[in-house]
Amino acid sequence: MTKILIVEDEPAIAAMIREILKLSDYSSDICNNGPDALQAVCTTDYDLILLDVMLPGMDGFEIMDAIRDFGFPVIFLTAKQGLEDKVRGLRAGADDYIVKPFEAMELTARIEAVLRRKNQIDASYHYRNIEYQEDSHRVLLDGKAVHMTPKEFELFGFFLKNQGLVISREKLFESIWGYRSEGESRTVDAHINQLRKKLGLQNELLTVPRLGYRLIRIKS
Ligand code: CA
Repeated sequence: MTKILIVEDEPAIAAMIREILKLSDYSSDICNNGPDALQAVCTTDYDLILLDVMLPGMDGFEIMDAIRDFGFPVIFLTAKQGLEDKVRGLRAGADDYIVKPFEAMELTARIEAVLRRKNQIDASYHYRNIEYQEDSHRVLLDGKAVHMTPKEFELFGFFLKNQGLVISREKLFESIWGYRSEGESRTVDAHINQLRKKLGLQNELLTVPRLGYRLIRIKS
C-alpha cells in the first residue's frame, strides 16, 4: 500500500488531507513538526512526503534540506501565492508544490503524477533480455510478458537486487516465504528450476554446491 507522510502543523488541515488520501487508498502518517518528521523518515519507507512550508521551528525548506538524501519524492504545501516560495521549493529539490487552499482532486492528481514519475524511474530492472517491472508485477522476456507466480516473481526480484552474491536456500526461503519450514530446500529448488526455464537463466542462475544459488552479476 502506498504510504504518505503528511507534515503539517494545523490539525484540521492535516486531518482533511488524511481523509482525502484515505479515499484514494493511501495510508498516511501525520507529523506536526520538523524533528518528528525527520524521525519518521528514518524509520519508515514512505512513497511520498507532503511537506508544509510554514511550520513553527524548523520550516519546510529546512526539513527538505535534512531529508534530501533519503530520496523521497516531496510535494510542498504552501499557503503563500508568491512565486518566490515556488521557485525556492523546486530548487530545494521538491517534485511539485501545491497552494493552499486546494481541492481534493487537485491534491490527488498531483500525488498521482509524482508517484507515476517516480515509478517510471525506479521500478524497472533490466537483466540481459529480461525486464523486471516491480510495480506492475510483470516480467518481460524479449519484450513479451512471461507468466510467473507471485513467489517466482519475488524470488527473481531478490536475485536481481543481490546479483553476484551466493544466497543460501534458507535465506531465500525466509526472505520470500517469510517463515521456516521442513520442505524449504525442495520448494526453493523447484522455484529456481522454474525461473531458469521460464527466463532462460540456465547459465546465469547458478547452483553453488553446498551453499545455495547465485545470479551472476551483469554490468549495467
Ligand atoms: Ca503551517
